Amino acid sequence: MRKMIPQRKINFHAGPATLPESVLLQYARAVTELDDTGISLLELPHRGSEFISIVDECNELIRELCDLDNSFEVMWIQGGGRLQFGMVPMNFLGLDDTAAFADTGHWAAEAMEYAAHYGKTDNIASSRSTNYNCLPALPAVDANYKYLHITTNNTIYGTQWHHVPDVNLPLIADMSSDILGCARNYRRFDLFYAATQKNLGTPGLALVVVRRSMLEKTVRSLPPMFSYAAHAAQNSILQTANVSAQYATLLMLRWIKEMGIEHIINTNKEKARILYHALDNSNLFIPHVTQTAHRSTMNVCFTAKHPETEQAFLKLCDDNNIIGIKGHRSVGGFRVSLYNAVPLMHVEKLVQLMNEFEKDI
Ligand code: PMP
Repeated sequence: MRKMIPQRKINFHAGPATLPESVLLQYARAVTELDDTGISLLELPHRGSEFISIVDECNELIRELCDLDNSFEVMWIQGGGRLQFGMVPMNFLGLDDTAAFADTGHWAAEAMEYAAHYGKTDNIASSRSTNYNCLPALPAVDANYKYLHITTNNTIYGTQWHHVPDVNLPLIADMSSDILGCARNYRRFDLFYAATQKNLGTPGLALVVVRRSMLEKTVRSLPPMFSYAAHAAQNSILQTANVSAQYATLLMLRWIKEMGIEHIINTNKEKARILYHALDNSNLFIPHVTQTAHRSTMNVCFTAKHPETEQAFLKLCDDNNIIGIKGHRSVGGFRVSLYNAVPLMHVEKLVQLMNEFEKDI
């Protein structure tokens, strides 16, 4: 296939992540002039009808792609994933309340640390002792907790909850690195949020979906910027909006719809399957997550049996225009992110290179 953007690299970064070429080209056009508005996307007033239509279409697409009914409110809030670590407890965890957390890695632990500023937290299950190479077994969760927080996909360690825990209390999830990338029953959650820089566009923004009945359970009075109810009441336009990031998200959501969500999910599974197959059959590369049921289809982490070969493999990738596979320092080795916009043929190319490298050493 001829590339529309010459010299474009194969990009496996964990986020900001690769975007479809068609999205980049539409975005580039909009920077010059958005549709026939006569102005640039970067100049677009955040309270004008054009931007309101952008937000409305994003909301509708999320409702459709996540199969949500009217009991959910869809919002877009600046501040990425981390602000949500704070907003969730600000809104729903009183000083004397306790929230339960499943500690499945760095981001899950950080969400719990933020919550501890506002109320009490219980770490009810953790896989820390094995450097998070699996998901912990969840005990029966006491319904007296204010909510249970999970991280559906653990970006740094490459584990993923494929089955949503069955609990009898509000379930809240950070879906930053697998939103719309895998099969999920989104209606099982009372609130979920996702930073946009992986499967949904560019950084700086977060999708927040909350069950309307939760909004009535807000535990303290908050300035509007920290209040979900205030964001919902203002259709996500409480302040000068991040117009360009919202537009990038709209283009991504349109692209997902055009490709078909089923097709995207199946392609993601296939990308992960061929990469794990290569790892499981390798004498050099070692997967970080060995329990297949816990493996992420979004981030695949592995090391080399002979660490001195890692630099050489990174260089080989670089020479072949493949970037973004250096592992996070907590695991070392390599991490390959397989988000929605990563084409299957890029993974095939990487696997071919892994096989050639292994033969040559
Ligand atoms: N949660 C998860 C699962 C993440 O992977 C990340 C970032 N990689 C974050 C939260 C933090 O997002 P942000 O940098 O937008 O605050």
